[in-house]
Amino acid sequence: MISLEINEGSRGSITINDFPDICGRCGKPTSPIFKNSQNLGALWDYDEIVEVVFKCSRNECKRYFIAYYSKVGRHGDYFTLAQVGVPEYFKPIEFPNEINMTSPKFRRIYNQAYIAESMGLDEVCGGGYRKSLEYLVKDYLSVKYPERAEEIKKYKTLAPVLALIDDTNIKKCTERAAWLGNDEVHYYRTWTDKDISNLKELIKLTTHWIEAELLTQKYDKEMA
Ligand SMILES: [Zn+2]
Repeated sequence: MISLEINEGSRGSITINDFPDICGRCGKPTSPIFKNSQNLGALWDYDEIVEVVFKCSRNECKRYFIAYYSKVGRHGDYFTLAQVGVPEYFKPIEFPNEINMTSPKFRRIYNQAYIAESMGLDEVCGGGYRKSLEYLVKDYLSVKYPERAEEIKKYKTLAPVLALIDDTNIKKCTERAAWLGNDEVHYYRTWTDKDISNLKELIKLTTHWIEAELLTQKYDKEMA
């Protein structure tokens, strides 16, 4: 047992079972050096969580990592190591300007789904990708038919949305992406030989065809 001073988050010292013996960064056995600590209060399923920053003592690593300690029992100051990790930074997936201008929310939703997928949340990221597709296609159509924008955004099913798409490639890819997207949010899976990588590929294709149409229109207008 080790006594630990909590530096931030109004809590005095606590007792922890031990320092982590594996570095959260390099994954090798280490005798970590204590750097900082703070009380996070109630978090996840725990009544109280304390976050502790350690530095790996291995010369080949020397990186910081975080250990989370959870309180044992409802009262008292005894905490045990719950998990060790590193702050993640996810480089966002970038899309062409035409896509970002047409649907700023598409990029945001798509990247949230991507972060979920990167963190191993494979059961929920598909729903996020599906949502991003809906924003992309509805925003694209709303820009194309501004007088019908409000109506387009309210459509609850895909059929009236698809009916408005006159480009065959955009229509084909949107429809198939939507089929796979539905598989991600429903109990019964129709396309058993397809998965999230196919859904992402179809969304990517949809962005390409939309971008191609918008760029072609732009040059059509500029060089009439
Ligand atoms: Zn290390």
